[in-house]
Amino acid sequence: MNWSEGLVQRRGADMDIRPSGSSDDTTQKKKTKKNKKRTETKRYQLVSYWDLPDYMKDNEYILDYYRANWPLKEALSSVFLWHNETLNVWTHLLGFFLFLGLTITNLMQVPQVAHFLSQFTRSFPVAAATNAFNDSKDFYLGAARLVELEKMVPTEIVAAAVTKAPRWPFFVFMGGSMFCLLSSSICHLFCCHSHSLNVLMFRIDYVGIAVMIVTSFFPPIYYIFQCSPHWQLIYLTGITMLGIFTIITLFSPLSTSKCRSFRALLFVSMGLFGIIPAIHAIVVNWSEPQRAITLAYESAMALSYLIGTFFYVSRIPERWKPGWFDLAGHSHQIFHVFVIMGAMAHYGAALIFVEWRDRVGCNRIM
Ligand SMILES: [Zn+2]
Repeated sequence: MNWSEGLVQRRGADMDIRPSGSSDDTTQKKKTKKNKKRTETKRYQLVSYWDLPDYMKDNEYILDYYRANWPLKEALSSVFLWHNETLNVWTHLLGFFLFLGLTITNLMQVPQVAHFLSQFTRSFPVAAATNAFNDSKDFYLGAARLVELEKMVPTEIVAAAVTKAPRWPFFVFMGGSMFCLLSSSICHLFCCHSHSLNVLMFRIDYVGIAVMIVTSFFPPIYYIFQCSPHWQLIYLTGITMLGIFTIITLFSPLSTSKCRSFRALLFVSMGLFGIIPAIHAIVVNWSEPQRAITLAYESAMALSYLIGTFFYVSRIPERWKPGWFDLAGHSHQIFHVFVIMGAMAHYGAALIFVEWRDRVGCNRIM
């Protein structure tokens, strides 16, 4: 208890022995309220790096605007305040809403979902479903035009409606991305509450990354190897097991800071796991025109994640000018933006995989 809190309590005790309703009493009550308010505002002010509890001292190049030991309510409402985590929260929150919007748009294409939604709204779904389908086709055609326009035959697109590939692997990826982006936002918002919640939040953040990596494998592996179910099973089981093992390791009581490099190794191996099916796919589909487009998208994704990780690890630019990028422009915010760009590139590739499999069915392996 600090000095002013003590004063507030003593005044409260004095008031108990006074007759209620007196003007003195009212003045005292007002003063007490004012004091309490002043104490609370003071307590939830932003602090500098040197005033932080040890568990929050992570980036010595960000000097100010920290929230420390804030109650959950204050931490929640700080989503609308300016502090050094505001943009970390909002970059991934907007990314989450972007993926939510894309998921809903794509769900409109699934006849069962469109039909289910039409139970609620009579006129909207048909138009929405048509638009969504056209939007996605535009996206696909636009992307294809950038790389290999002449390879796109209109009759192939018409044939799309005939044999539809299952959509669930695509939505598994969308769900994984939304989970990762939302858990990251929540983590950045509430990590200032207490040491124990801080530890839990960052574990959940890592779980989100693991889930996003694992679910990212579903569209390419499922659609590329749709005609070879045994390869589908081997690759998807392999990456899922690796992901589950990583998550168990994160929550294991043996998981201490000493295991940091082991954890990093697990995340790297999840990413590198993709090299095996990628080489396999390239070897068996050397002549497929969509190979170039999807490779361009997936290379853009890999590059985004690599550049993002470079900023994350190097702590550039704040390391060059400590204190200059506290509120905006520090490495973690840049990392978040590259994560969204990487996920968007993968979304573009996933759309191409789905529509390609719709057209070619299971006559040949890509
Ligand atoms: Zn983050």
